[in-house]
Amino acid sequence: MAKLMLHNEERLKVAATALSLLTNRLVVNTSGNVSIRVGDHVIITPSGRPYESLQPEDICVLDLSGEAVDGTLLPSSETPLHLAVYSSDPSITAIVHTHSVHATAVTTLIDELPAIHYQLADMGGAIPVAPYATFGTPELAQSVTSVLPGKSAVLMKNHGSLTIANTLEKACERTITLEWCAEVWLKAHMAGTPTIVAKEEMERVKQQMDRIGAERDKRLHDRADDCSCCDTP
Ligand SMILES: [Zn+2]
Repeated sequence: MAKLMLHNEERLKVAATALSLLTNRLVVNTSGNVSIRVGDHVIITPSGRPYESLQPEDICVLDLSGEAVDGTLLPSSETPLHLAVYSSDPSITAIVHTHSVHATAVTTLIDELPAIHYQLADMGGAIPVAPYATFGTPELAQSVTSVLPGKSAVLMKNHGSLTIANTLEKACERTITLEWCAEVWLKAHMAGTPTIVAKEEMERVKQQMDRIGAERDKRLHDRADDCSCCDTP
């Protein structure tokens, strides 16, 4: 019988997500990292382990101060960054950090990715580029958390991207959208001067996204024969 592990389901999800970042070419080798917060625990990818061979037991479980709770491998070098982001806002329960090509390229050119496409409304509009600091340091964690309020994504100068959400799926979706928007900006910028979506329109788009999201959730809820998420029939 398989050994029961702490947060087995979440460890599987973190390992599968890390592999999907690799196969989607959002990371190369062992760069980038992924985590989920469950209560007072953070479930995070280990440092320097190939994503292709990650097993659930390789994923580290830490407390919010970074002390190991379960797992024997060294946690990601960006653990201080993940812990700082979680402590900055208790509603954040998933983080994806990558060195994806287009997002990283943009960080070397500008200090803010403007609202090149309406889809950025899901992440708070224009995406700030956090000032450079050495990887794995408290200075980098401070740099990122200082520009994060009001955003669901941050770019990191000469480094990469970081997205947050309340599910790992949503954080990944935002990473993919951010990478795509960065590519659109680079191509548009090479060809000329891109137009930018106005702030007021981005606010309107966000309202529209929220309205459609709520309606979609309601339809899915209504379709379920046996609702387990509430007591109302
Ligand atoms: Zn990194």
